Amino acid sequence: MSASLNAKIAEVFDEPGCDKNQAKSAKERKKGCTKQLTPGAAAGGCAFDGAKIALQPIVDVAHLVHGPIACEGNSWDNRHSASSGAMTYRTGFTTDINELDVIYGAEKRLFRSIREICERHDPPAIFVYQTCVTGLIGDDIEAVCKRASEKFGKPVIPVNAPGFAGPKNLGNKLGAEALLDYVVGTMEPEHTTPYDINIIGEYNLSGELWQVKPLLDALGVRVLSCISGDGRYAEVASAHRARANMMVCSKSMINIATRMQQRWGIPYFEGSFYGISDMSTTLREIARLLVERGAHPELQDRTEALIEVEEARAWDRIRAYRSRLAGKKVLLITGGVKSWSVVSALQEAGLEVVGTSIKKSTKEDKEKIKDIMGDDAHMIDDMTPRQMYAMLRDAKADIMLSGGRSQFVALKARMPWMDINQERHHAFAGYEGMVTMVQEISKALFNPVWAQVRTPAPWEVANTLLQAPTAAQLAAEAAPA
Ligand code: SF4
Repeated sequence: MSASLNAKIAEVFDEPGCDKNQAKSAKERKKGCTKQLTPGAAAGGCAFDGAKIALQPIVDVAHLVHGPIACEGNSWDNRHSASSGAMTYRTGFTTDINELDVIYGAEKRLFRSIREICERHDPPAIFVYQTCVTGLIGDDIEAVCKRASEKFGKPVIPVNAPGFAGPKNLGNKLGAEALLDYVVGTMEPEHTTPYDINIIGEYNLSGELWQVKPLLDALGVRVLSCISGDGRYAEVASAHRARANMMVCSKSMINIATRMQQRWGIPYFEGSFYGISDMSTTLREIARLLVERGAHPELQDRTEALIEVEEARAWDRIRAYRSRLAGKKVLLITGGVKSWSVVSALQEAGLEVVGTSIKKSTKEDKEKIKDIMGDDAHMIDDMTPRQMYAMLRDAKADIMLSGGRSQFVALKARMPWMDINQERHHAFAGYEGMVTMVQEISKALFNPVWAQVRTPAPWEVANTLLQAPTAAQLAAEAAPA
């Protein structure tokens, strides 16, 4: 690894916003926060993949992957991050290097690719992603980007997170570092207000940001920049003028929040859009921070009034599903805040949560699960696919909510399944999102396909008939010897 990449990784591993990280010794911190990958084992995404996931939702930018075409194929459009306008981010740009480039170096090819993007698409900026092969042959993307930026008169941003640097989570942070080094603070917004906030770590998956934005609009709070869902380059570049930052729960880009606090004195808080009470807490925190930073105190009263109306409306709509869903059992295999934040909505709809996974949950997440569910009996530390299958087959759960990787376990057990992780097709954020989630569970549970797939196939019925003893055989067996 190059010296500059090593230094950047060391910087990322010193995270003042993370208590766990700060509790470590300097030596431990250097080792990083993730387990070393086992060669050959599927590890769930490389650092490049993580950086691309974090930055690709900036929709008006061209995202150019410098490497073999497979790297771009690996990462393009693997999530449903939505745009309200520009669609440049959905074009897969890659230098698609070949064997000769590996021998002679691919910097010239990269420069030509940047020129072609400028001529054909003219985006406000180009992000260039380093990958393993181009990192190993020593291509200096920083130097090429600097030269291209001067030549073409637009920002060309190097994102130095080759796959071998580490796992996906580190890549998220290295992507965020690229924004901090080259983007945030380089432009000024047209105007500012005391009600400007940034939302950091929200990717607008299936349009989730749009379930939250109307609430902020109703309060008169302006999202100056969302990093990075439905983001625009100019908004991210002028994000340093916001009054407060909200860090969306996952902590994947916490380094942006902490560095912005250090550089521009912008306070931040960590919040979540999942679950009704969490959504309300988040709105309250935004109002509190803005009032502290100069907004009119009446904002807090407006927030309370909005929360009252929205909560009542959401609970009413969820309650309407009670008679349909009462007594149905749910197995929740997800991580982090979702392991508990959606539980109360499920319970309100009459569903019984028979288990929730805590493999990726923090100590605080586990405490919350205990608060909501009474004890720790429902916590599942690590469930193998075989155990999940047995639980579903034996009907200890009627539906499983999980990420896409576990879906085939449920389908094999001929049980309903719903995607609750990042690849989902429905938006589950805010008050509206919780209602959508209950609606989708209801649809999945009562889909007529389950009755059909559980009916024995005609050849299975025929086999059973063939093997069934005849009446004469039964009589012979019953007769005394
Ligand atoms: S960057 Fe490396 S690990 Fe990641 S997809 Fe490309 S070759 Fe694979």
